[in-house]
Amino acid sequence: MAGTHVLAIDQGTTSTRAILFDAAGQPVATAQRELRQFYPQAGWVEHDPEDIWRDAQVVCRGALERSGLDAAAIAAIGITNQRETAVLWDRATGAPVMNAIVWQDRRTAALCRDLKADGAEEMVRARTGLLIDPYFSATKLAWMLEHLPGARTRAERGELCFGTVDSWLLYRLTGGRVHATDASNASRTLLFNLQTQDWDGDLLDLFAIPQSLLPEVRDNAADFGIADASLLGRPIPVTGMAGDQQAATVGQACFEPGMIKSTYGTGCFALLNIGAEPVLSGHRLLTTLAYRFDGVPTFAIEGSIFVAGAAIQWLRDGLRIISDAPSSERLAADARGTGGVYMVPAFTGLGAPYWDPDARGALTGLTRDTGVAEVVRAALEAVAYQTRDLMEAMRADADCLSGGLTPHTLRVDGGMAENDWLMQFLADMLGVPVERPAVTETTALGAAFLAGLHAGLYSGRTALAEAWRLDRRFEPRLDERERAALYAGWQDAVRRVRTG
Ligand code: ADP
Repeated sequence: MAGTHVLAIDQGTTSTRAILFDAAGQPVATAQRELRQFYPQAGWVEHDPEDIWRDAQVVCRGALERSGLDAAAIAAIGITNQRETAVLWDRATGAPVMNAIVWQDRRTAALCRDLKADGAEEMVRARTGLLIDPYFSATKLAWMLEHLPGARTRAERGELCFGTVDSWLLYRLTGGRVHATDASNASRTLLFNLQTQDWDGDLLDLFAIPQSLLPEVRDNAADFGIADASLLGRPIPVTGMAGDQQAATVGQACFEPGMIKSTYGTGCFALLNIGAEPVLSGHRLLTTLAYRFDGVPTFAIEGSIFVAGAAIQWLRDGLRIISDAPSSERLAADARGTGGVYMVPAFTGLGAPYWDPDARGALTGLTRDTGVAEVVRAALEAVAYQTRDLMEAMRADADCLSGGLTPHTLRVDGGMAENDWLMQFLADMLGVPVERPAVTETTALGAAFLAGLHAGLYSGRTALAEAWRLDRRFEPRLDERERAALYAGWQDAVRRVRTG
């Protein structure tokens, strides 16, 4: 019997999930486990790779069991994962050499400062599209080789494997037979050259990383090997893989240059598809691989907002002026007038395009009749204004592409995308339609799309775009003058909190 379903493993920072999708892209069963976090010192964050592997197996079995299907119904497995998190393990035994160093971990801040002081950033940026920052994997791996006794010697002898979480899971799923990654995860390491689409010898030298540690880089929809029968009772091919934000881009079927996917959770991650040319950002946004099919790369500009849903959490848990996040929608709709009250949620500084880490938040434009509704509305509006800031930066970068490019559609997901009032205001503020999909589990869906593509469940990108289904489209309806006036008010509020 040919498989009709795809199993997506979504290994995130705080939990591991498996979702079984049918060929129409509908989720039929889900299982999830919270992931243990380790904070050995201030600024350090670790995960136990064995926890990750155990949880992945448990949720795969759980999802299959809940579906009531036989394992033979699964045509393929797709993997998506928290990006940049570094794992180092023994090639012979598969045992981790230490805990995984998580993307949030800042232990390599001093090393990054030294590399920048040595003038390395320009070369790194030109080759990888990224910045020198502890966030990315290379300095985490360098730290392991430096601090674990014998690690460098063993690495040089070819006895160790490095990988991000995708590679780690694949290695275990295939019983240690395959040490590979995909181009999107590779593009987040600081070791991958966007132009050559391969590991870069100069970058390996810069970070003192032996080449033998690295996984082989494959397309996002590719043959990644066979998951052992020990997982689900039958061998199942792994045919799709992508980092979480890139998987969401695929799950949102953002296959045309000019399409943006934006995920609104605690923070917000937006990726603009810029097509075949990896143009570097003039606003310190990142250039990254969006996806690679048949060896042909498509690139994206990525921008993030530190505080999105977190501002609503603060209203709920800090100020205690709302009882739950969804109630923000009704309050915003009830607020008086079109505002004048602005919240700049620069709780941890301002990100793109301001890059002011010392800025702090503010509420401006308060009057005697400002109430809870107006403050809540200002918090929601801030999400839209920050997206507009990102989009203006993306627009300016996209202008530098040969032929130029205009961002034209925003596809949204994440917890905040449920808020209709916010989605309408977002469309109004951006002046482009905002599309919310029927399936909001876009990260897992993207992994399923990729795996299904290579397994033959979908004939190509067009078929994936057809499998993506709209829940609701929000058209911009604010007139241009009002839109400009509201945004000017935001920019004025931002000016008040900037330190530089
Ligand atoms: P994460 O994956 O970062 O944990 P989620 O995608 O689960 O985030 O979204 C949760 C965030 O979205 C929370 O910060 C919450 O305050 C916010 N949120 C959830 N529902 C709504 C809503 N209806 N309106 C506004 N904010 C919401």
